[in-house]
Amino acid sequence: MKTNPATSVAKTGAATTRWNPSPWRQDFPLIAEQTGLAYLDNAATTQKPTAVLNAVRAYYRERNANVHRAAHQLSDAATRAFEAAREKVAARFGASSAKEVIWTRGTTEAINLVAAAYAPLVLAEGDNVLISRMEHHSNIVPWQIACSRFGARLRAVAVLPNGELDLDDFDAKLDERTKIVALSHVSNALGTVNPVADLTARAKAAGAAVVVDGAQAAAHIEIDLRALGCDFYAFSGHKMYAPTGIGALIGRQELLEAMPPWQTGGEMIEHVRIEATTYAPPPFKFEAGTPNIAGAIGLAAAVDYLNDLDFARVASHEADLLAYATASLNQINGLRIVGTAGNKSPVLSFLAQGAHPHDIGALLDQQGVAVRAGHHCAMPLMETLGLPGTVRASFGLYNSRADVDALVTAVHKALSLL
Ligand code: PLP
Repeated sequence: MKTNPATSVAKTGAATTRWNPSPWRQDFPLIAEQTGLAYLDNAATTQKPTAVLNAVRAYYRERNANVHRAAHQLSDAATRAFEAAREKVAARFGASSAKEVIWTRGTTEAINLVAAAYAPLVLAEGDNVLISRMEHHSNIVPWQIACSRFGARLRAVAVLPNGELDLDDFDAKLDERTKIVALSHVSNALGTVNPVADLTARAKAAGAAVVVDGAQAAAHIEIDLRALGCDFYAFSGHKMYAPTGIGALIGRQELLEAMPPWQTGGEMIEHVRIEATTYAPPPFKFEAGTPNIAGAIGLAAAVDYLNDLDFARVASHEADLLAYATASLNQINGLRIVGTAGNKSPVLSFLAQGAHPHDIGALLDQQGVAVRAGHHCAMPLMETLGLPGTVRASFGLYNSRADVDALVTAVHKALSLL
């Protein structure tokens, strides 16, 4: 078991700051067992609770079979568990029906699906797709390719110095030729929570379809798609305590019905003749090949786990961590927090004067504090802010103030070594 010198210092030196332990820490074996680790890279991926680990193991031990095809009981059990998972995701996100939930590998694949199968229905030469300068590359590159296919233009809403979207610029760049607006719910690099319901309403009034990248929202915000009003919502299971390799695109049913398939092969067909093929209805039309069955079952267990929590308590715990970390880091000389939006998710990006983010990241790692350093797959945002990158601490529900103390102690030490 690793021990973390920074945590020990924090434990002995700052007892008063430890009054806010996470009530959920013991649910996560990796977190509970690696007592020397302050895991603050939750925006990259989260750890998994025992309930998820058990569900995946039980599936492989007791029910492993392919879905939707075989004539035996094991396959029937696997299919029922797989489709029950879809229902759970639909209910958690407020989809109108499970038919609107398409399994994908994650957010990246979900956005690529929309860009490949929806964009051709609406984009023509002279149209535009509106994104923002704070998007993750997976909400930029698919739109660049779609625009170049159809002679459309990619426009990007400006970001203010505090990390909020420039809403005036949004209005200025949205026009009658905007066919798709694709925005992140929460910025992975800065933690900014964008007003997606309001922006969706403005985009819909202008006649555009709205795609929301929910990768960084799903673990921290209770999402109700009926209230958001968007047409497509993409998320990744692994960022909300579920396994890697599973996520979903939730799309409005009438749009999914109109869209052609994007990947083809088994599972997505109704009838195949050599001359021509008819396709299964959504969601199966978009799920060619054997899906990630264990992943979907693991994701359903993560949804059950989150459903059983008092989410208001989770949100207030995470808000406390963010406020405590912000106040603590602000006291360090030469350290600058990047991203000070009024509405933030528990993500804290910072820069230490004169130090490259990668050097700080490596020195923190040596002290048992896991953060991410670099451009966070948001190079246009870094370019806008004139930064090479940042150090990013991102919190999950199992983190505590002791983890923040470990971070602060480790930053002090890193700065003293540089
Ligand atoms: N969008 C945002 C805002 C992200 O933070 C990420 C991952 O960090 C992605 C999209 C891509 O997610 P995935 O790699 O799970 O497809």
